[in-house]
Order: sequence, then structure tokens, then C-alpha cells
Amino acid sequence: MAEAGSFADRVKQQADIVRVVGEYVRLKKSGMNFTGLCPFHQEKTPSFAVHPVKQIYHCFGCGVGGDVFKFVMEMDKITFPEAVRAVAEKCGIAVPAARERTPEERRENQLRAALVDLHREAAAFFVQQLNTTPEGRAAKAYLLDRGLDSEAVARFGIGFAPSGGEALLRSFKSKYGDKVLEPSGLFSKDQNGRPFDRFRRRVMFPIANDSGKIVAFGGRALGDDLPKYLNSPETAIYSKSSVLYHLDRAKDALRQRDFAVLVEGYMDAIAVARAGVSNVVASCGTSLTEPQVKLLGRFTRRIIVNYDPDTAGQAATERSLSMLLEQGAEVRVLALPGGKDPDSFIRSEGPAAYTKLLNEAPPYVDYLISRARKMDMSTAEGKLRAVNFLLPYVQRIPDRILRSEWATRIAQQLRIEEPVLRESMRKAASERRSEVKAKPELIARVGKPAERRLVQMLIEADEFRAQLAEELRARELHRGLESERILAVLMEACASGERPDAAALAMSLDERDRRLLFEIAFEAGAPPAWEEAESCLAVLHRLKAEEELSTVQKQIESLAAAASATAGGELRRLLERKQELRRRLAPPTQ
Ligand SMILES: [Zn+2]
Repeated sequence: MAEAGSFADRVKQQADIVRVVGEYVRLKKSGMNFTGLCPFHQEKTPSFAVHPVKQIYHCFGCGVGGDVFKFVMEMDKITFPEAVRAVAEKCGIAVPAARERTPEERRENQLRAALVDLHREAAAFFVQQLNTTPEGRAAKAYLLDRGLDSEAVARFGIGFAPSGGEALLRSFKSKYGDKVLEPSGLFSKDQNGRPFDRFRRRVMFPIANDSGKIVAFGGRALGDDLPKYLNSPETAIYSKSSVLYHLDRAKDALRQRDFAVLVEGYMDAIAVARAGVSNVVASCGTSLTEPQVKLLGRFTRRIIVNYDPDTAGQAATERSLSMLLEQGAEVRVLALPGGKDPDSFIRSEGPAAYTKLLNEAPPYVDYLISRARKMDMSTAEGKLRAVNFLLPYVQRIPDRILRSEWATRIAQQLRIEEPVLRESMRKAASERRSEVKAKPELIARVGKPAERRLVQMLIEADEFRAQLAEELRARELHRGLESERILAVLMEACASGERPDAAALAMSLDERDRRLLFEIAFEAGAPPAWEEAESCLAVLHRLKAEEELSTVQKQIESLAAAASATAGGELRRLLERKQELRRRLAPPTQ
């Protein structure tokens, strides 16, 4: 939490939550608030709101909410200190040098910083090799032959690693010691432990993380050298399962067009981006991972998978489909005709032909049915195989009606009797473990108007919040209310009279209370007035009396039923209390 006077507190005071959230969510002004589609759950109508004055956000659909730091932490999956720095950077607030807690942390941070520097310089080195050495110029000719032009080579930072095996090492040895060179992933060692360049005679593609820092390289062999593609190993700055090639350049287009084209390699991504579809990313050789899908999910949930149509590409497509569907993505599949990958298709057919097919890409179930139809359908066994191939995917369709429609289609297309198919679907479903997707729990409007208004006034009434909190505390009017815990934390925070930080208080509440607090914080109300506060207090007071009266009445009845002599004194006391409560609840007489 942002302690008063701390750097985090300063950032929070200066940061504009609307601007920061607006980098991730398209927000529209709506009354006092800004609203948009919630980035934390799938929805078609906006239920995500940002309050510019209270500097909080809340989703009325899935219930998430908090301050600007919480938002960035959740979106970027980073820690609180990282979020503070990120928000500061976004808002142009100077960040003081990080204070590491342990010497180990300092060493790690220094290494990471050095590795980022080294990668940036290595990228420049490879570019220089491509442009100035005979070997490099030959490599460039090869690239131009593959349909790239000088502009594209420069735009994507493509370079060349020479064949000698020592060029990079020689030029970096004096500047970076072994302590940086060794863990950089750019060097290998021979049997004698002597280091040499890991990438030799390869066209080099810099791989950046989502903030645009080069963290690795992909090298494509020029001749028949194996492997054809060689990537940097995992290092302190590169985890291949959580980086998507081209994402750093695709961000804006992803948000604007709200879909992503997912391809396999850098050449494909570059070709697609050059065809005018800049919302393209590549998974780069690995099959798609959960962190990659989540990373992409920050920008869009609609994805067109465009892998190679070869066998390996088909398998990769199907693995990616499972991963994407599990993460709730809306998936279409583009399988280019003629067995072409995006790069070769665009080169032979042109960008217009590609974008046309892209726009027509069928939903993934259509793609899968056409795959299943290519299986041997002449035998019962073959048909069973086709059905078993399709079922796991169909069952990932969250919508029951849609799922049923697909069942009909599959039965027709594969010429299977529909009841038989439905029976096997039903069986498979009952054997399946519980649904992965949790429905956002919607809470009904809770809390009586008077409680909600009191919560609001405790937050907003600068003039009398301390007095109001004291009234509530003295008469214990919050006890037993649905908003009891919310009122309790607010009362404590209001004792000083200072405006309570709703987002900070929410952290100490459980899920249900947190939601309720945010909902109330977003309700628009008249400016707080003491008379209204008093009438709300009176309502609660009356409520309390009513409850007690009904308890007393029950006790009287059970005592009367017991009719024992010893109960006499107690009964009398209860009857007196009943009269008193009745008087209190009776409308005032003139
Ligand atoms: Zn939501």
C-alpha cells in the first residue's frame, strides 16, 4: 500500500488513473465516470468503470476493483514496486534509483541491466555486419531475394552474425566481462571451455519483450546449416514462453482492431506486418504457452491462428487451439491454400489476397470439421476417431446452444447419426471434470439505501465525516448490517477526519465487501448534508429497535408457553422492554 509521503504515494497523487487505464482499455466518458469493456472478463457491453475523482476502477460484472497500482499489477502481472515504477514512467514522474533489499537483488538487477545493454549493442553490431561486410551484404541480398526491401530490413532491425565464430566475442570482450558474456546466451564454449559466438553465419532477428527491449535473438541459417532456426537460450532477461515476437510493435494495432493474427515465425510475422496487418505476433518456434496467451489477452481476446498448413503446423495449430479456448479466447483459423505459410503466400499472391482470406477465416470449429473430414470416414472406427478428435474442442465451447448447433453440424458433415453423437458428447461431458471457466458471481444490490448513503458520506463528507463516524460508533448502529465490516473500517479511517482512501481500505476487506464498497463508491449522489446523515442514522436506529422488538416478542412467547413460576420476573422485564420499544417506534405525536 502507498504509505503517506512515500514515492508510491507521490505517484498516486500525481498519476491520472483515467489516462493509465486508457492505455489498456478504450474508455468513454459517461456521466461522472469513464466506462469501457472490462479487460478482466469477457463482455460485450461495458460494465467496467473508472472514477476520475476517487481514482479507482471497478467492474460491475466480475467485481474486480482497486487503485491505479492494483490495475497495472493485474494487467501486467507485476509486483507492487514494479507497478509503482511503471505508473511513474507512464506519467512522466522521475523514478528515484531503485533500492534493492539484498546484495543478491542488486547483483541480479545489475546483471539484467547489463544484459539489456549488451543485447542492444549486439543488435547494432549485427546490423553493421549486414551492411558493411562482404559476407553480410551477401546475406542482405538473400533477404532482398526473399521479398524484403532495405526499408523492412532496417525497420525490423535485421542483422547478420558472421561465420568466423569470434567476431562478436572479440568486439565485446573488453567492454563486458565473463560475468556478463557467459549468462548472455550469445556465446557457447568448446571442449576446452573456450567461448565462441553462438550465432554464426545467420540472419539475426532481434526479439524484444513487450516493452520493446531486445532480450534475445533468433538466427536463421543462411545455407543448409542446421538447425535452420536457432534461438537464444533462456537467460535472466529472456523466458521464451512469455515473449511474443513483434508484440512490442503490435500493441496499438491490437487495441485498435481488437484481434490478433498469430503466426509461427519471425519471417511470417514480418511478412504479415508488411502486408498492412500490424496486429500480428509470432510464438517463435515454441508451441503457444499459457503465459503467452495471457500476455496477448491484455490486448485482445480475438485471435486468428495462421500457422503453416504442414503436419507440424497442424499439430501446433491444434495445440494452440486448446490453449486459447481454455483461456477463453475467441478463435478463428486461417489455413492458407496450396500448403503455403503466410510469408510465401503473401510473396506469391500479394497482400490484398492475404487480407481477404484473413477476413474470411472460419471459426475454429469449421476448421476442425474440415480436418476431421480428411480422416478415413469409410469405417465405423474411422468415424469414431474423427468424433474423438472433435469432441474435446466442441466441449470447450462455453455456450450450450452454440455447442448444440455444432453437434448438429458435425453429425451432418461427418454423416453420423445425431442421437449417437449427442449420446457420446453427453457421456464425455459427464466424465469431464468441472468446467474451467468460472462465471463471474453477480451480487444483487445489497445494503439498504440508508447504509449505502452513509458509506458514501463517510467517504465524501469532508465537513462532518469524523462526527458521523463517532455517532455510528457510539450507538453501534452498524452492527448487524450487511455493510457492517465496510462501515467498521470506514469509521476507523474517518476518526481523523481525513478523506479515507477507498482503494486502500478495500484491500482489508473480503471479496463481497470489497465489491460492495466499490459499487457504492461509484454511485452518484447529492453532495453530503448533515440533515441527510441524521435521517440515515435515524433509519438505522429504528431498524435496530424493530429487530429488538421482534426478538423480545419471540422471547415473551416462549416464556409464556413455558409458564413456569421462575419465569415471572423475566417475563415482566421483557414486557416492559416491549412497551418501550413500541413507544420508540410509534410515529411521533404532536
Ligand atoms: Zn470484469
